Amino acid sequence: MASLARTILDEHLVRGELVPGTEIAIAIDQALAQDATGTMAMMQFELFGHERVEVETAVVYVDHNILQIDFKNPDDHRFLQAMSAKYGAWFSRPGNGICHYIHCERFATPGKTLVGADSHTTQSGSAGMIAIGAGGLDVAVCMAGHPFELPCPKIVGVFLENELQRPWIQAKDVILELLRLRGVRGGRGAIFEFTGPGVSTLSYTERGTIANMIAELGATGAVFPADDETKSWFDEQGRLDDFTALETGDAENDFDEVEHIDLAALVPLVAKPSSPGNVVPVDELIGTPLAQVCVGSSVNSSYEDMAVVGSTLRGSRISEKLISATATPGSRQILDQITQSGTYVDLLTAGVRMLEPACGPCVGMGQAPPSGANSLRTFNRNFPGRSGTADDNVYLCSPAVAAASMLKGEISDPRELTPPEMPARPPARPAVVQGHILEPVPADEASSIEIPRGPNIKPPPEQKELPDTLELRVLIVAPDDISTGDLSPDGATVMAYRSNVPAIAEFTFQHRDPEFPRRAKEWGGGFIVAGDNYGQGSSREHAALAPAQLGVRAVIAKSFARIHRRNLIAQGIVPLLFKDAADYDKAELGQTWRLSGLQEIGEGLDEIPCQIDGDQEITFTHDLLPREREIVVAGGLIRYLNEAGDRGREALRRLVRAPARRGQNVGRGRGRRQPGADPAAPQLPDPHPTRQDQAREQGGRTAPRLPARSVRRCGQGLLRLRDFREPGRPERRRSEVERAPPTLGRAI
Ligand code: SF4
Repeated sequence: MASLARTILDEHLVRGELVPGTEIAIAIDQALAQDATGTMAMMQFELFGHERVEVETAVVYVDHNILQIDFKNPDDHRFLQAMSAKYGAWFSRPGNGICHYIHCERFATPGKTLVGADSHTTQSGSAGMIAIGAGGLDVAVCMAGHPFELPCPKIVGVFLENELQRPWIQAKDVILELLRLRGVRGGRGAIFEFTGPGVSTLSYTERGTIANMIAELGATGAVFPADDETKSWFDEQGRLDDFTALETGDAENDFDEVEHIDLAALVPLVAKPSSPGNVVPVDELIGTPLAQVCVGSSVNSSYEDMAVVGSTLRGSRISEKLISATATPGSRQILDQITQSGTYVDLLTAGVRMLEPACGPCVGMGQAPPSGANSLRTFNRNFPGRSGTADDNVYLCSPAVAAASMLKGEISDPRELTPPEMPARPPARPAVVQGHILEPVPADEASSIEIPRGPNIKPPPEQKELPDTLELRVLIVAPDDISTGDLSPDGATVMAYRSNVPAIAEFTFQHRDPEFPRRAKEWGGGFIVAGDNYGQGSSREHAALAPAQLGVRAVIAKSFARIHRRNLIAQGIVPLLFKDAADYDKAELGQTWRLSGLQEIGEGLDEIPCQIDGDQEITFTHDLLPREREIVVAGGLIRYLNEAGDRGREALRRLVRAPARRGQNVGRGRGRRQPGADPAAPQLPDPHPTRQDQAREQGGRTAPRLPARSVRRCGQGLLRLRDFREPGRPERRRSEVERAPPTLGRAI
């Protein structure tokens, strides 16, 4: 059996060959965004001038900035609701649940491709699809019908043997074990495909836990089979029509690399502060005092996760040593289930604070721990300050470890407890969540919708061409593993400015170097110098937009995290590498660096000389793929696409998919709709047919197990983008009025 991940990639391949590390582009079936990334992504989508999104399914979720303490967040919600209705995206209301959870419930589909402006988009890999986190601009580009470009990932086969020793050993321990084995950089450039007899013993939501946190390895994604367990889930969700059985590879030579994990041999694991890769057995931490325990939210917020905590606490109280304990279900559907089963009451009477289904404490939106205290969480990330407290000490664990620790007020081993009696699992009621996912307004009504923009919603900054020479000062010399949360911090105050780049830029490096924004403005921009894994963590594009706003034109690091590297390129910041990593030690704050020949990167230049303070010279290199070279030289992705329009029809043709295949596969299940394909759009021949095109023309099929896919026409946005900027088209700008739209989507 071939690798499922490779088969899906092959079926969606638009450009390139499936050779790991080389540039490929794949057609995208689904796109998602959430409110923290979505306002900027939707404004960038607007620049393409399309009347509707050009993917089968696009969904915008409101789950991050749901506090409505002044006008800023509700203005964003209103904007996103109107944009979704107008442009053909589904809109999930605040309080409905977390984007990557609801997507697994209501939209994930075997064999499809999904790109999401959220790094944990990967969770949908539990449904047997390719689900990739990306920056907001990359998602906007996909929503405009372009393929998604990426370095071809290698496929790592993870063979699971035997079965977890439930209830105290859980799926969280599987992914923590992978993090223990490989670390936070151990998945870069890879999709992890889970196979072996142990897979069938994992539930759909347990698979989701693993696929969610594959992002913490820096991986491109995770894929599970679509099997009987998946089918049962789809049946319960009323989505059997969306189900297709898909098998994973089953032999070691189906994969580029392999890992073996014996599920029966796992022990409870904990990631210590302040990295998800800092994993040790719980034994090493027994007795560590705690001020707070939080369950649910970003991962482990399924019904089963909540139920194991509730039943462990049943009839007891959380330890008086704790300041607080919280529980956050992943979606309204899960909240409904824990209410039906009695788990809600178990948690409530034990003293747990019940939070609404949203990101909440995962992203510092309330429930920050006390200063210098320990917080134990079932979440996926524990980067410094992410909780909202600058000197936090956050440990990550499974729900079982969290429940045992709630009872004692210190990190505890659940295996010391008698397994509790679990409540009967109530049937899921998908209408509880689907009823608050508003259907886009039909295309013929949508044109009358006007987009309300509050005063905090500012257009994306204009991109500028890369100069051939940059002579600027070093603004910061940062260590390894700088996260996007360091660059653009979490928390209610900062995140309320996600729609206002000039304002959010004032918080860049707030926790590490609060003087950074002032220095950058006084010095007229500059360079960021960093160690390994620069930009790990969330997909937030603001971690690139804010430095760009402050005049940063290049980041020189030992290595980059995948999504952030791509965000830098998209925003016109050149990601450069030290040719000799030891030269990192020569960097000092305030030095003047002179980089020359930058425009030649587009013509194949691989080594960039840098003169330090007019004296010693060091050399930088890069790993830019061919199209990425063109993008950085142009000054960013929007500017590149705009210029591509200028280069004319030939550039357009290079991106256009074969029209004969457009619209072959419309969504089949309940709640799907035909995307906004425009039958009057020009039908251009594809000058670069893929191997799949050729196979079909010859009557062959290269991936018979997969459902036929929809192929998008790519590239029309290039010309429309240009139209948008022409002075003769002011009418498009007139939509920026403060008036409520006539209708903002419909509940079904
Ligand atoms: S902030 Fe947390 S809960 Fe929200 S999408 Fe990100 S990981 Fe998930």
